[in-house]
Parts: sequence; structure tokens; C-alpha cells
Amino acid sequence: MQPSPHTAAHLNQPALQNQLPVVAHNEIISRDPATNQELGRVPVFTQPEIESMIARARAAQTAWAAKSFDERARIILRARQIVLDEMDAIATLIARESGKPVAESISMEIVPTLDLMSFFARHAARILKSERIALGQYTFAGRTSHIIYKPLGVIAIIAPWNFPWAIPLGEVVMALMAGNSVILKPSELTSLVGLKIKDVFTRAGLHNDLLQVATGDGMTGAALAASPSVNKIMFTGSVATGKRVAAAAAQNLTPIVLELGGKDPMIVCRDADLPVAAHAAVWGAFANSGQACASVERCYVHESVAVEFTNLVVAATKNLRQHHGTNEASDVAAMSSERQAQIVDAHINDALTRGARILTGGKRNRDFATSDDDTHHADTHTPAHTNLFYEPTILVDVDDAMLVMHEETFGPVLPIKTFRTEDEAVEWANDSPFGLTASVWTRDLKRGGRLAAKIDAGTVTVNEVLYTHGLAATPWGGIKQSGTGRTHGKQGLLELVYPQHIHTNRLPRFADLWWFNYTPSAHTLFRQLARRATNGSILQSALAFPAVVRRFLEMRRRK
Ligand code: NDP
Repeated sequence: MQPSPHTAAHLNQPALQNQLPVVAHNEIISRDPATNQELGRVPVFTQPEIESMIARARAAQTAWAAKSFDERARIILRARQIVLDEMDAIATLIARESGKPVAESISMEIVPTLDLMSFFARHAARILKSERIALGQYTFAGRTSHIIYKPLGVIAIIAPWNFPWAIPLGEVVMALMAGNSVILKPSELTSLVGLKIKDVFTRAGLHNDLLQVATGDGMTGAALAASPSVNKIMFTGSVATGKRVAAAAAQNLTPIVLELGGKDPMIVCRDADLPVAAHAAVWGAFANSGQACASVERCYVHESVAVEFTNLVVAATKNLRQHHGTNEASDVAAMSSERQAQIVDAHINDALTRGARILTGGKRNRDFATSDDDTHHADTHTPAHTNLFYEPTILVDVDDAMLVMHEETFGPVLPIKTFRTEDEAVEWANDSPFGLTASVWTRDLKRGGRLAAKIDAGTVTVNEVLYTHGLAATPWGGIKQSGTGRTHGKQGLLELVYPQHIHTNRLPRFADLWWFNYTPSAHTLFRQLARRATNGSILQSALAFPAVVRRFLEMRRRK
């Protein structure tokens, strides 16, 4: 594809040069949410352009699938080295485009992906090794079965803006290691980070068509999801969009993994280490300004320790420093969009109307007030600049009718509610349409394990919070409206292949006893098989042996 002169002048990322459509029908302006400064422009890819990207991805995939795991791993590890060498520049780009602190751009985006790149480069071959299946009595008839894992083809990755580097890059690495090619659609809010991922792999020597980035808005994502030519969709985003993507995928029966929202509960038992649990609550709720699907969205604390715990949480929250993300002294920075900040406004206002109390925060930080603050723009790309620095907020006196207790807030708000019994806490934790993660805090690890097993969620951590998306080896995903399927770990890698069953009859000179004709001896054999050879007992099966021999001899005679 040739760059359009219209957009080429604005591009400041080398990888963008590879990505331009013949005609850029539209473009997206990427802005720093903290300052509204323009960071770059990217084209909006349209449906025909996406189809041609997919066709190129498919053509390139065959040769890639034929390569050994070692050959694929070499590219991943070269890309890893580039990330390591350019860590600070990448972290700054992530911080500027998403608004998050540069510290989190490194600790929550780059560190986990460096780890994930080594993990899948080293372990994909072992995880996807062919497997023998034990066939029981069929083994005596000379049958063997094994599974080989084959790449699916072209994987569509549709990614959100909140972890614009870690979420798509992890899936890109897994898809490539499994032998697939990828079309990545980053969020329109973080297109430049998406293109940086492409840039890193291109410089690592990956064929240009094996990873292509379809920048654009929701329509671009919709065109990708509706394509009959992709072999799987890995979607991460909101429940509402997830349902649209699932409906589009259903038209073509395209398999899909959905990583959606959460309303993740934290249960603090009476025997928890309260200072540590309070520190965890504050990090779990306010990292990335609470814009993490596994953020602590609601906290249930035992009534006997509620006052002490809440005081600790408030003190730790007041201690947080809020600055621009690129300032290394920043703990909490800007939210990513006015649209998201308005959801936080709405949840806080609803809670206050229904009787909640704010112990700290509850508003935008006036140190960052802008002249446009009085104007609210639902359009995230409006040139108007509103203040997206939301103060970390603690709410008490909350109840389940409040939006903040049952809808995903996805912002820096922590509502705290007290419970009397553990059963009550578990019941509240499970009383949600979501089931992504949850955490239990107790010094008694047996109690922790027991409560964890009662909670309906894809991941439950005991004395830990939020971070397990950063563990390459463990599966990530939810139940209920938090989604379906898994990413990361063995289960995540298996989403990107299909198991092919290869069954071999090692005695090909003989016809099977269940083939035509259905003579009386066949009927006798079938009844014997039903009675004796279907309960897994070799001894029982042996009793059917005379009928097997009679049928065998009969078929030999008819040959
Ligand atoms: P959205 O659902 O708005 O967007 C996700 C992606 O889908 C974006 O790339 C978006 O493009 C694209 N998109 C928008 N409309 C369509 C469409 N009709 N068809 C296909 N793709 C489309 O989510 P957000 O970006 O706002 O992310 C926040 C949500 O993601 C939260 O609910 C959060 O909980 C969830 N999330 C879940 C995670 C998990 O692992 N379970 C991890 C991180 C976030 P564009 O942005 O350009 O509109």
C-alpha cells in the first residue's frame, strides 16, 4: 500500500508508513488526554481494506506455520530485546497516549510483556506438543490416536485503550508462536501504541503481512468482526461491544474469545493483615485510575475491623500524588477519556443521592482545571480539553442499589461496605452479572482457599490483588458477562490452535467388524459389545471375545 499524501505529513512513527491505505477516507487524531496535545494522526481502515489485509495475512501465514517453534521464538525474542532497549521511549508513548503514569507503563505493561515474550518463546513448543490418547481396549485392535495442534490461520485481535500495550501484545505473541498471522485493531484512543507494537515486530524481522494493524474506530472493529475470512476473534472491551462482536461473529460462526468487564469484589476478613490489605485496596482500586477490568470495584470488610481498615485506606489514598503521567513522581495520573470520567461523575452523584458519604476525593482535581471544564463533551475526540485528573475517591455508607455497587465504574472509586458473616460476603460477591476476578484477605490460608472456591469468578486471589494478568503462565478470563474463553497460560495458547485428531488403524488388512453386512452374528456381537465392552473393564470386554472371533471369521470368509 502507498501512503496517502494527506496523512503522511503528520506521521511521526516509522511503522505508520507501512500501514497506510491507498486512500485514507478519514483519520484519527491521537491526543494526550492530560494535555489534549496532538500526538499523531492515523488512517481509518475500511472494510475493503481490511479484507485485503486479511488476504495478505493468510498468504503469509502458510510459510510462517511451516517454521519451527525455534524459528518463531527467535523473532519474538528479537522483538523482546527491542522492547527492552527502547523501554523508556515506549513507556513514555504509553503514558502520553493513555494518560497513565510512566511507572505503570513500565510495571504493568512492559514488564509483564517482556516476561510473556520469554515464557511463550520458551514454552509454546512444549504446550503444543502432540499428545497420545489412551484408547483402552481399542489398542488391542491395533488402533492409535494422537492430537496435533494446528494454527487457526488469521487471528483478529480487537483491543481496548486501558492496557493498550500489554493486552494486544500478549495476544499477538501467543498467536504468532502458535503459527498464526494477526490483524490488530487497537482502540482509536491508543492507535499509536498499537502501531508501536507493529514497529517492534517489523524491526525484529517479522514478515510485514504477519502482523498488520488496522487503525480506526468502532466501525473498523465492526468490519473486522464481521469478516467471514478471519479464523478467530480475540476481543477485549466492554460488555456492550462484546455482544455486538459476538453477534457479528455468529453470522460466520467465527470462534471468539471475549474478555469483558468486571465488578471485582475484595473481601477483607477479620483476621486480615489490615495495613497490607489497605495498601492492596488502594493500589487495586486506583492503579491506572481504576481503569482496569480487574480493579477492586467494591470492598467488603468485616464489621469488627471496618473502622481501622477504612482509616488506613483513607490515609493511604490521601498520600497518593497526582501528576501528569510522564512525571515520575506521579502515582495517579489522568483518566483516558471524558466519556469514562463522566461515568465516574454519574456513579458518584448517584451514590451521594442515595445516601453514600465521600471520605476523600469525589471530584476532578482542581490543580489541573482547564478553561473547558464547564463544557462536557461526550465525543472523546473533541478538541475541547476537559480536566481528566479524577481524585481517588473512597465512598462509605453504600448499598447495593447504588450504581457504584453493581455497574462497572472503571474509574478511581472505591466503595467500602461492612459484612457480618463470611457467607454474607460471599453471597454479595457472587450477586453480580460479572465474574472476572475477586480477592480474599485473611491470615488463615485455609479459610482463604475455602472462600476463594465459593466465589464465582475466573480468577480469585488470596492476599493478592489485580496483578495476575501479568502472569504469563496463568489463564486469564471470566465467567458470566465478564466473557468467555481464556487468554494467557496453556489455556490461552490453546485458544489459538485447533486440536486435530489423527487416528490410525495399524492393522489395515482387516475389515472392521461393525461394517456391512449386518448378519445374525453381527447382531450378536453388537449386543455383546453393548453389554460387556462399554463400561471400561478389560475383563468384562474379554467375555465378548467369542462373539468377536465368530464375526471375524465370518467376515474373513466373505472377503
Ligand atoms: P469498547 O468495547 O468500547 O472497545 C473495545 C474495542 O472494540 C476497541 O478497539 C473499540 O474501538 C472496538 N469496537 C468498538 N465498537 C466495535 C464494534 N461494533 N465492533 C467491533 N469492535 C468495536 O471497550 P473500551 O475500549 O472502552 O474498554 C473498556 C472495557 O474493556 C471495560 O468494560 C473493561 O472492563 C474491558 N476490559 C476487559 C479486560 C479483560 O481482560 N476482561 C481488560 C481490559 C478491559 P474504538 O476504541 O476505536 O471505538
